[in-house]
Parts: sequence; C-alpha cells; structure tokens
Amino acid sequence: MTADRDSAVGEQASANAAKPPKRDSELSGPATAKRAPTGKNAGVREPAEAAAQASADPAPGDGPSRTKPATTSARTAAAKKATAARKKTTAKKATEAAKKTAAKKATEAPKKTAAKKTATAAKKTPAKKTAAKKAPAKTAAKAPAKAPAARKSESRVAMVRRARRMNRELAEVYPYAHPELDFRNSFELLVATVLSAQTTDLRVNQTTPALFAAYPTPEDMAAADPEALEELIRPTGFFRAKARSLLGLSVALRDRFDGEVPGRLEDLVTLPGVGRKTANVVLGNAFGVPGLTVDTHFGRLVRRFGWTAQEDPEKVEAEIAEIFPKSEWTMLSHRLIFHGRRVCHSRKPACGACPIAPLCPSYGEGETDPEKAKKLLKYEMGGKPGQRLRPPAGYPGEPAPPLGAG
Ligand code: SF4
Repeated sequence: MTADRDSAVGEQASANAAKPPKRDSELSGPATAKRAPTGKNAGVREPAEAAAQASADPAPGDGPSRTKPATTSARTAAAKKATAARKKTTAKKATEAAKKTAAKKATEAPKKTAAKKTATAAKKTPAKKTAAKKAPAKTAAKAPAKAPAARKSESRVAMVRRARRMNRELAEVYPYAHPELDFRNSFELLVATVLSAQTTDLRVNQTTPALFAAYPTPEDMAAADPEALEELIRPTGFFRAKARSLLGLSVALRDRFDGEVPGRLEDLVTLPGVGRKTANVVLGNAFGVPGLTVDTHFGRLVRRFGWTAQEDPEKVEAEIAEIFPKSEWTMLSHRLIFHGRRVCHSRKPACGACPIAPLCPSYGEGETDPEKAKKLLKYEMGGKPGQRLRPPAGYPGEPAPPLGAG
C-alpha cells in the first residue's frame, strides 16, 4: 500500500517537474511511471525510432518532387507534412524526456524520502490520509494473534529443552513427590491401583487398611467370599466390577505366578483389571523399573504444557518417552500428578500461584490473580492434609485422616 502510494506521488511530482507541453504531461501520467522500471530499454530504443521516423516522414513529402512535377498544392502539402513530422518528433522526444525523468524520480524518491512522501500523500489526498490512519489499527489488531503463532512455531529442540527445564523446576517444587497410594508390598500396590479407578487415592487409602487386614496375600484374596470382598471395597465405587478384578487377578497370581506379582509389563497386563497404566505404576514403584503413568492429570498437563497434542494415553506415553530419559520417567509421573492435583487443576488451574508459569504456554487458562489463585491450592500447598494415611518421611503435609474421621 505505502509503496503504491509513494510511487503515485513520485509520478505526479516528476511529471510536474518536467513541465512538458500539455499533451506530453498527459502522456507522462501514472501509466508511464508504472512502466518506467521495466521500460529502460524502451526508453533507449524509442528516441532512435522517433528519429528514424522523423527522417522518414519528410520522404513522402519529398518523394513526389522526384517522381512528379511539383505543384504549388503538392509543395504546400509536403511542407505541412514535414512541419507535422517535426512537431511529432519534438513532442515524442519531450515525452521520452518526461518519461525518463518521471521514472528516475519514481525510483529514487521512495528510497530517499519514503517517510516524507507518506506524509505528503496523507496531506494531499484525504483518501490516502484515512488509509494511513488505519494502518496502525491493523497492526494493533494483528498483534494478539502473533502470540499463539509464536508458540506453534516453537522448534522441537526448543520444546524438549523447555520440557526438561519444567521437569527440573517441578523437582525443586516437589522434592517429596511419591505415589499417593498407601502400600507395603507389590501386591498391595497392585490391588490399591486397581481400586483407584474412578475415585481418589484418599478414598482408596481409607479403604485398604481393612481390606489388607482381611486378605494380606494373593492366596487369601483368591479364596475370599465375593460379597464380603465387595462390602469391604464398596467406598471406592464400582465395587462389583472391582471385586471381580481383584478375585481374578488374585487367582491368576496364585495359579500362574506362584503367588508373586510379576515384574514385567507383558505379564502384568495379562491380569484381570490391569492395564498399561496400572502396570507402569507397579513397575515404577514396586520394582524400580522406569514407567510413565499416563492418568488424567498427566495427560491434561502434558497437553497444556505443549509437550504433546495426543489424547490417547498410549500415544501420549510414547511421545513423552521420547522427550525424557528413562531414568526420569517414574519421578516425572509423580511430579506431574502432584502438580495436577495441587495447582494445575482440571477446571480452575491456579496460574497466579503456579511456580512454573513462566514456562507454561497455557498460563492464563486459570485464575491469574495471585491472591485468588493461592486459595485454589490443595493438600500440603494449601496447608491441608495429604492423601496418604501413612505418608513417606519428608512429606511436608499432614497425614490423611482414616475413613469416617473427616
Ligand atoms: S501456568 Fe496455569 S496452566 Fe500452566 S501449569 Fe501453571 S497452573 Fe497449569
């Protein structure tokens, strides 16, 4: 827009400066100046053609004097033609000169005084003035749209660096991150994880003391009365389906794995009610085998962080596994789940009280007012009890109360 405007002004100024005859100034209008950058060769060739034409034009006038006896009228006609030809040549030369000047000025002027010309154009033409005024408004309107685009354009390398830095910072915030299910061995962790589906770890932790007191081993649970088992796990919800899973996996452990929980993912996922997520929890926390626990918190956070766009837990797991070394997988899972439960909640993330906000592309999705955000913090970060009745040493919060106590 600005270039066109400048060019038009240059053309007009150049035409005026050249001050050719009236007819010439009409010829050296905007169209002439627009062709100017590509008409360099034409500008050189055309005067030659004009000269040739000028020298040729009198010939017809002279011609008859050589082939026919000259008459007064013929001489007059020839003289008139010669005069016309001279005028034409003069006019054409003047036009070419004006063209050259206009083209030169149109080319040089924007380079030298672009700002000046814009100002001049705005002064001279009200329509252009309006356009010049609108320009900043357009820029201002586009500005917010650039932020998401910039995030989208983050390179893979930059994203991986940012992700690892976020993990390091989360490690500083939650040095005490741990599985939030109470357990004393792999069997208890397996059972507790199966029970944690569709409920809180707190509710599971309040339920399992009585359950493990009644059925401490796979053999004991495999021999349990289904109704008695259902009654014990009722507080966790979906108790009939969960009771079937517990009975099934206990029988499988007793019959196929000598009463021991297997330490391999491919074996664990063959047990009733055990999927990849449960298997990774058991492997990572009872066997020291690195695993990513893609639960609802983990999935939500990694998408908010821009680490992945995947929704399917297995695809999320595969993509996150590419970003972090294996040695980080288990603790990364705990940190993300801790952060999701305490700060980066599903509905109201406490962005204004979030320690990793400067690295998060989703900052602003939740409450940004620091005071209001602080009130959204949960568990030990909100000065409240944690989820475990028997938290590990170093946990800064209060233990959770037993079932029915609060
Ligand atoms: S800034 Fe907001 S969205 Fe990002 S991690 Fe923190 S709480 Fe979650």
